[in-house]
Amino acid sequence: MTKSPMLIALCILLLSSCQVQENDRFPNIVVIFTDDLGYGDIGVFGHPTIATPHLDRMASEGLKFTQFYSGASVCTPSRAALLTGRLPIRSGMASSQTRVLFPFSTSGLPASEITIAEMVKERGYATGIFGKWHLGHLPQFLPTAHGFDEYFGVPYSNDMRPTPESRWVAAQNYPPLPLLENDSLIEESPDQRLLTKRYTEKAIDFMTRHSEKPFFLYVPHTFPHIPLYASSDFEGKSARGLYGDVVEELDWSVGEILQAIRDLKLEEETLVIFTSDNGPWLVMNEEGGSAGLLREGKGSTWEGGMREPTIAWWPGTIAAGKVTQSLATMMDILPTAAELCEWQIPEDRTFDGVSLLPIFNDTQAEVREVVFYYLGAELFAVRKGPWKLHFKTLTPYVGQQAESHDPPLLYHLLHDPSELQNIAEDHPDMVQNLRTVAQEHLNSFVPPPSELEKIDTALYNGSKSYPAFY
Ligand code: MG
Repeated sequence: MTKSPMLIALCILLLSSCQVQENDRFPNIVVIFTDDLGYGDIGVFGHPTIATPHLDRMASEGLKFTQFYSGASVCTPSRAALLTGRLPIRSGMASSQTRVLFPFSTSGLPASEITIAEMVKERGYATGIFGKWHLGHLPQFLPTAHGFDEYFGVPYSNDMRPTPESRWVAAQNYPPLPLLENDSLIEESPDQRLLTKRYTEKAIDFMTRHSEKPFFLYVPHTFPHIPLYASSDFEGKSARGLYGDVVEELDWSVGEILQAIRDLKLEEETLVIFTSDNGPWLVMNEEGGSAGLLREGKGSTWEGGMREPTIAWWPGTIAAGKVTQSLATMMDILPTAAELCEWQIPEDRTFDGVSLLPIFNDTQAEVREVVFYYLGAELFAVRKGPWKLHFKTLTPYVGQQAESHDPPLLYHLLHDPSELQNIAEDHPDMVQNLRTVAQEHLNSFVPPPSELEKIDTALYNGSKSYPAFY
C-alpha cells in the first residue's frame, strides 16, 4: 500500500515537533563579571605578561567582542545596568554626587526594577550569585530580594572596611567587611586571599546541584578591585606582579567554571559571558590595570573607562574563534536572556538593550548603532557607528572638575581608538547629527530621584556607629 505524500509530510512534521519538545530546555546562562579589569588586561586582549590561558581558550572556542560597553564607569551603576538591562539613570542608580553605594547608604536597587534573576526565575530557572553585589547591603536590597535563590559574597567593594589612616571620617569608621550567605552575616573581615577560590567552589557546587534544570549563575568577582589579594597558589607567580597574580587567579576560576560545565555535559546548553564592570583604576599605578590602547580608565567616559574585555562562549551555537566589531553593551544581556527563555519583555518601561543572539548565530553583523556614556547622572558622550562625540570629559580621581566642550570633541573610533585626534572641525554635519541623537535621548524621559544620594549622615560623619546587622 502506498502512503500519500501528504501523510508522510504529516508524520515528518509530528516527529520533528516531538524532537523539539524532547530537547526543549531553556539554556543555562552564566555571567562572570570582574571588578575593575581593564580592556588590555588579559592575553587575548593583548596583555604581554599576564597569562590567561583559560580566557584565551574561551575566546578561541567562542566569540570575542572588541567593542562591548559597560553601562557606567564605576561599580554600582554598572551592576544595575547589567542586571536590569536599563541605563542606571532610569532606575535611580546614577548620581553625579554619590557615584556608588557606600556602607552609610540607606538605599539600593529599587524593588520595582526587574532583574535578569527575577526574569529567568519566572521561567523556572535556579538562580545564584557568588561574589560582590553592590546594589544595596540592607536586607530589602540584597540579591535574595532581587530574584536570587542563593547568595554568597560581599555586599559592596572590598576597600569598604575600617581604614583608620584615611582622612575621610566615613572610611575610618566603616564596619569590618561583611561576608554574607543569603541574607545573613557569616563572617567579618574574611580572608580576602581566599575569596576568588571560595566564589569558584560555590559557583561549581551551584551548577552541579542544579544541573537538571536551567540555571542562571552570576559570578561578580571581588577582584581585581583594590586592595589586591591572591591565594598562595597564585601569589608571587605572575610576571606582572600582584595585579597579575590576581588576574591569573580569576583566569583559573574561569577555567574551573568552564571545565565544570563540560564535566556536567552542559556545554551545548550553556551560554557563558565574561566581562568587567568598568575600566582599570589607573591612579592606583601598578596596582591598577591597563586599558590597553584605549584612553583613560575607571571613572571616565573615555573609552578606557567603559569598553570592556568581553567573551561569549556557547559551543554548538557560537562558532569557535569568532571576533565581532559589533557594538554591544551589558544592557544587551537581559534581552538576550529574555529571548533564550522566551520571556515577554514588558512594555511598561524602557529597556536599553537588544538581543545579541543574531551575533551569536551569525545572522547579523551588527545589533546596535548607538551607545550613551553617562558619568553619574549626566550624559557626557554619545557614540553612533564609528563616531563618538564628547560634551564633557573628566580625568578621574585626581580632583579635577569635568571639562565642558563646546563645540564638543569628535573622534572616529575605528580610525582612532585611542581618542587622540579631535576632528570636530572637519565634520560639522556629524557633530550636529550626534548632538541630535543625544538631545532626543535626553528629551525622551524624566529620570527618577537618585537612590545613591540617600545616605545616613550620622554614619557618614562618624557621630553614630554601625548597627548590629554588620
Ligand atoms: Mg568596579
